[in-house]
Amino acid sequence: MASYVGGNFVDTGRYFDDINPVDGSRVAKVAEADAALVDRAVSCAREALAGDWGRMPVAHRARLLHRIADGIEARFEEFVAAEIADTGKDERHARTVDIARGVANFRFFADLVVTAHDQSFQTPTPDGRDAVSYVVRKPLGVVAVIAPWNLPLLLLSWKVAPALACGNAVVAKPSEETPFTATLLAEVMHEVGVPAGVFNLVHGFGRGSAGEALTAHPGVDAVTFTGSSKTGSSIMRAVADTVKPISFELGGKNAALVFADCDFEAAVDGVARSTFSNCGQVCLCTERVYVERPIYERFVEALKGRAEAIVVGRPEDPTTTMGPMISRQHRTKVLSYFDLALREGATVVAGGQVPTFGDERDEGAFIAPTIWTGLSDDARCNREEIFGPVCHIAPFDTEDEAIRRANDSDYGLAASIWTTDLARAHRAAPQIEAGLVWVNTWFLRDLRTPFGGVKLSGIGREGGAHSLAFYSEASTICVKY
Ligand code: NAD
Repeated sequence: MASYVGGNFVDTGRYFDDINPVDGSRVAKVAEADAALVDRAVSCAREALAGDWGRMPVAHRARLLHRIADGIEARFEEFVAAEIADTGKDERHARTVDIARGVANFRFFADLVVTAHDQSFQTPTPDGRDAVSYVVRKPLGVVAVIAPWNLPLLLLSWKVAPALACGNAVVAKPSEETPFTATLLAEVMHEVGVPAGVFNLVHGFGRGSAGEALTAHPGVDAVTFTGSSKTGSSIMRAVADTVKPISFELGGKNAALVFADCDFEAAVDGVARSTFSNCGQVCLCTERVYVERPIYERFVEALKGRAEAIVVGRPEDPTTTMGPMISRQHRTKVLSYFDLALREGATVVAGGQVPTFGDERDEGAFIAPTIWTGLSDDARCNREEIFGPVCHIAPFDTEDEAIRRANDSDYGLAASIWTTDLARAHRAAPQIEAGLVWVNTWFLRDLRTPFGGVKLSGIGREGGAHSLAFYSEASTICVKY
């Protein structure tokens, strides 16, 4: 796989391996972009802005975004297969979430940008005449998009689509773990006639590689990043000297609050899905579950049943409901929390081990869905993001206590509340310190709503008009007449 710069695929001659986490086999050799290639990508992006792209009417840009969506749909099966090869995720997830929402992101922002409008004001002047003040929006310029591995195409397109819709040129760096669908996206951009330099793709790692070269590049006008909070801090330092606009979607340690008055089966299903989906590798996944004491024991038993019913296996097997983790390296990190949990006094209710298959999957990165109880709220396993198929369940006695404990976290991305008491839902939801609170559901996203986190979970909001606001620069013009 090669980088895509200035409308050409570029093989740098220095490679790293893209590994399939199902069996450890090599998916592809990926050519790593060095600082010189990143520099060329930024120059090509700047040239594109100065050329036709910078003058293209918004309606044309929107049509081009729809053509990108058409291009992904025309190669849908290829995209699904690529996402599965890189991540090992189960096919249903890749098909209905990853690739489907990748397409939807381009269509959504294409439609949104053509209806976007801004404010204007009649402004009184001191001499009794009139002025009109109005706002125009301009592209930011060259936008660096840095994406993680857990929902590769979905999260890359979530930022590339609005950036292009607003008329920017993009240099994107996908995760080193998941370069495949990003490369296919570059092919689609090429096929549908996105002008050279408008979309550039550089493959590589973070520190000391393409990621760092990109964020530190003086020619980049804004950085939009999805990934861990630790990397967010590094990027913030890298952009500090040039004071670039940043948008950060970072880690989470999300809570579920289950009240005794909930629809029990719906709550168990919802918490199971929010804990184990995508092998627990979604920033919105639940890792802390607080259950009201009268239903605590029953809930623990029921969630254990759901965890044990999960079929861990090959992505293409229709009975599989959970694939492997992204990599052996990430599994090692998650397993270190499994050890730590025991040292911190956890009771293992379900899982806690690496499954064995007796075939090539033993070379993969599989792990068992896991549930703990018995940890204190200040245990590291209850405070640090683990990013695996694991949650801790604790009982609570009052609504205030549940809210206080949910908020006792350095993170604030998402939460879910399970209750049939409407008044309680409306009372509790706004008190949760998180960018997104679900009541009786999880992962339901309306792309028009703001998305982002508080505390260590991020800076800024994207989604709908919030994306258009981030990916453009507002300029106020005041005309006296
Ligand atoms: P990561 O931070 O390790 O890497 C993310 C991306 O940043 C990769 O492309 C990586 O190469 C790049 N990178 C790493 N160091 C860099 C540096 N110094 N400079 C520039 N780029 C650098 O994260 P990950 O392991 O790929 O993804 C998992 C994390 O992402 C979890 O913490 C998860 O919660 C978070 N995440 C957040 C959201 C959200 O919307 N809030 C969504 C998905 C994932």
